[in-house]
Amino acid sequence: MSKFHLVVLIVAACLSGMIIDHRLVDSPKEITASASDSDNLYIWYAGYNDEYFGDNLPRDTVITQEKIDSDSLANTVFNKSDKRFHIRFNSMYPIGSRLSHLILLHEQCHIETYDEPMNDNDAEPDHGPRWRACMLRLETMGAWRRLLIDNYKGN
Ligand SMILES: [Zn+2]
Repeated sequence: MSKFHLVVLIVAACLSGMIIDHRLVDSPKEITASASDSDNLYIWYAGYNDEYFGDNLPRDTVITQEKIDSDSLANTVFNKSDKRFHIRFNSMYPIGSRLSHLILLHEQCHIETYDEPMNDNDAEPDHGPRWRACMLRLETMGAWRRLLIDNYKGN
């Protein structure tokens, strides 16, 4: 996810009141209060794999927070050594749980469509037609509405 995507998400978030409304409470189904951020990412990944991907994504995906290139909020790579996907959140940008959910789904679509042609720098998958179809499928399943609208209490 690029900085451009972050700007789009922040604008969408502001329009939906998510950033300026501090009364927000995340769904207990999605947030495990006692778990660490890293634990939460694995819990959310597994939940989304079940709910939106038919449990067809690998269950052994590694999710880390580390310093990656400054143009990316996160990226997904397939590590040939351990033969596992690695979703790497950029530790340079602490982003909170709601944006982490959005980014995680974005990256899970990369895993689903990983054999789609690579982009110019050959480092990570492109946002091609299959990735777009995955994201649009999530839209029809209500993923974005749930995160950006319905997950707010008091409305
Ligand atoms: Zn991407």
